[in-house]
Amino acid sequence: MHSARLLRTVPVLALSAALLPLTAASPAVSSTLASVGGAAAQVCEVATPGGLEVRTKPGAKAVEPDAAQGAGTDLLQGKEPTALSPAGSIRVPTYVHVIAKGPTAADGQLTDAQVAAQMKVLSKSFNGTSGPGAADTAFRFTLAGTTRTTNPAWYDMLPGSSAERQAKQALRRGDDRTLNIYISGLSQGLLGYAYFPQQGGNSNPWQDGVVVLNESIPGGAATNYDGGDTLPHEVGHWLGLYHTFQNGCSTAGDRVSDTPAEAVPAFGCPKGQDSCAKDPGVDPVENLMDYSYDDCMYAFTPGQAARMDAVWKAWRA
Ligand SMILES: [Zn+2]
Repeated sequence: MHSARLLRTVPVLALSAALLPLTAASPAVSSTLASVGGAAAQVCEVATPGGLEVRTKPGAKAVEPDAAQGAGTDLLQGKEPTALSPAGSIRVPTYVHVIAKGPTAADGQLTDAQVAAQMKVLSKSFNGTSGPGAADTAFRFTLAGTTRTTNPAWYDMLPGSSAERQAKQALRRGDDRTLNIYISGLSQGLLGYAYFPQQGGNSNPWQDGVVVLNESIPGGAATNYDGGDTLPHEVGHWLGLYHTFQNGCSTAGDRVSDTPAEAVPAFGCPKGQDSCAKDPGVDPVENLMDYSYDDCMYAFTPGQAARMDAVWKAWRA
């Protein structure tokens, strides 16, 4: 199931099929949050996948929404250009919501140390210390709180499911400028998913935030995806980044000028691969917005840092 982080791009109508097992869920659970029980009455609603971004393993049943893959209208179209914020100048309060299906580590319970290790990977990915050439961005993420919920009905939390809706409506904290991270079991080969700010942050506030597979945290069980890089990848989407292979070799690409064009997602770590031979540069397999293995990807570019900053100002600040 995991040989490459990829997932060829299959449209997400698989989404509705993927939801079926979850629709009847009724949370009978203990939770650290008093409000959780009140969410049980929500009925299943299939979300419009237009602003959704997913990261999956190869062979995943739930796949990348074509709306997010295709050309479409750029998030920044019609937005006024803004001056670049200084590195580290935007502080983002961050809540981590651990959702388990039972009392043990095998059920998805995480220790504070595991949460801290994941937050460290997130911090390094955005502060320019993750490796050679990594951009120092404007963003710093500060852990504002951790919640722990035991609820088998929410454990899968697939995009568009009633489980997702119930969990997020019960657990989400803050506003558009707050990052909510849900760490759960997912299923169907999903490593994580996120919504662009125009979808989650503005039109459907409860939906905002990122969801990552608990096996993808540092030291997790997801072979080749256990370095914690799914989280910064999804946060990149949360801040308006597209995949580096967005729009293939076309001019629009991922709307970032310093990420070489890429025809297809990278699987594994194919350094030197050049899938858009007529364009400058080889495929950016080291980039966090590709689909490479965790020990291969580590960096955002200065152009991506600038785009995230601009998207923040346009949609979240
Ligand atoms: Zn993605």
